[in-house]
Amino acid sequence: MLNQILLHQNIIDTILLIVGIIISGVLFYAGVISIIEKEYRAAKVSGILAVILFIPFIAIYLYDFQIKGLLSIILLSVIGLSGLILFLPYRPKIKAAFQKPTKKHDERDTMFSRNEIEPTTENYNSYYSNNPEKEALDNKFREKPGLLSPETSMYHHLSYASAHANLEVIEALKPIVNGSVDEKKVEVEASKITNYIKTWSKNLGAHSVGITELKDYHLYSHKGRGDLYDKEIKNNHKYAIAISIEMDNDMVLTAPKGPIIMESTQQYLNIGTIALQVAYFIRKLGYASRAHIDGNYELICPLVARDAGLGEIGRMGLLMTPKLGPRVRIAVVTTDIPLETNKVKDFSSAIDFCGICKKCAEVCPSRSISFNDREKIDDVLRWKINSESCFTYWSTAGTDCGRCMAVCPYSHPNNSLHNFIRWGIKNSYVFRRFALYMDDLFYGRKPKSRNLPSWIDV
Ligand code: SF4
Ligand code: SF4
Repeated sequence: MLNQILLHQNIIDTILLIVGIIISGVLFYAGVISIIEKEYRAAKVSGILAVILFIPFIAIYLYDFQIKGLLSIILLSVIGLSGLILFLPYRPKIKAAFQKPTKKHDERDTMFSRNEIEPTTENYNSYYSNNPEKEALDNKFREKPGLLSPETSMYHHLSYASAHANLEVIEALKPIVNGSVDEKKVEVEASKITNYIKTWSKNLGAHSVGITELKDYHLYSHKGRGDLYDKEIKNNHKYAIAISIEMDNDMVLTAPKGPIIMESTQQYLNIGTIALQVAYFIRKLGYASRAHIDGNYELICPLVARDAGLGEIGRMGLLMTPKLGPRVRIAVVTTDIPLETNKVKDFSSAIDFCGICKKCAEVCPSRSISFNDREKIDDVLRWKINSESCFTYWSTAGTDCGRCMAVCPYSHPNNSLHNFIRWGIKNSYVFRRFALYMDDLFYGRKPKSRNLPSWIDV
């Protein structure tokens, strides 16, 4: 058999050379993309691998030696088998990948709400007399300088001032999430108006838009922020439109430095504006609607977004979208206008990937992210971060940190290279494990936080 193969050695040499060119070409392409993304470690690794992996192919093509035939067969078999194993669409079912919460959460329990209640006030006394175990925990963040304080470790005057500016504008938007509905109701066709709202939102800058029926467990039980603190939440709208927007990758990669809070507040503002526009538009057509924007929610945006088909909730407790991972901000519009809902997409591959990855847990400066498997919390199998220690770090650093988001392998830019890897992660159990190993090799197990862009660091 070996003799027969050797008769066709020239053809095999050429095939191997083409395979070698393809493999090294892909790595070279990855290197170029990495340079564009300013990922210099990844560019270096790509370049080195492109050269090293090309050596056996070009050697077999150029030189004659004794075991050339055998080596060619081994090389071709290894490549064929690896391709088969890596891309075989083997997807074992993930246990309880999608579960519905059985009880409502209370917004008064969120860290933002607890941060806003002033000591010695009635709300403060009432909250901690009902939750005495939380007072000592919360006193830890109260001892710190606080978000955007000049005394915090990440203080940077320009980026903090920008974040303050963004928050001031959001503050001005909070009271207009609701409004009067036009008396004249325009007849609409669900499919057409759904398409209109989705396309318009994307034209306005949204990354993804999905629609679900509004469920009880989407809603908080009570308001925990603003003038309506303590008020029981009632929202009878039939539908919820979840809208996500991308956060700039270069800004996120500086986390936990100043630009992260500048970017997160910017995108809260941008997505809030889109949600307000959609809500106003719907009321103009004669149907009730309410926008749910930063600081004025009646519901839990990631839960709505998951049911609207925008992604899955991963280890760090944030929505993981298929193309941008957790690098998004979300707003929601609830409404009664007739709409077509989205199917919940199977994104259980993200649950499996989070199970092995744990990169966010490794880099978290406050050790707030669990390294363990999902646990049953309120009847739902999920990961829960330690919100108190996370928020205490925010109050020390001054920013909303975002290190977990910055290092997440799903957060890489939305381009052909990373989308190919995301496709492999989604479709193959083995590829997921390989992709994690490669992510560590190309970007590091604990990637460093980037320096501030020069236009900010003045
Ligand atoms: S960093 Fe890894 S473990 Fe953490 S959310 Fe992203 S994929 Fe999941
Ligand atoms: S935001 Fe920072 S402190 Fe909070 S969980 Fe993520 S990495 Fe940890």
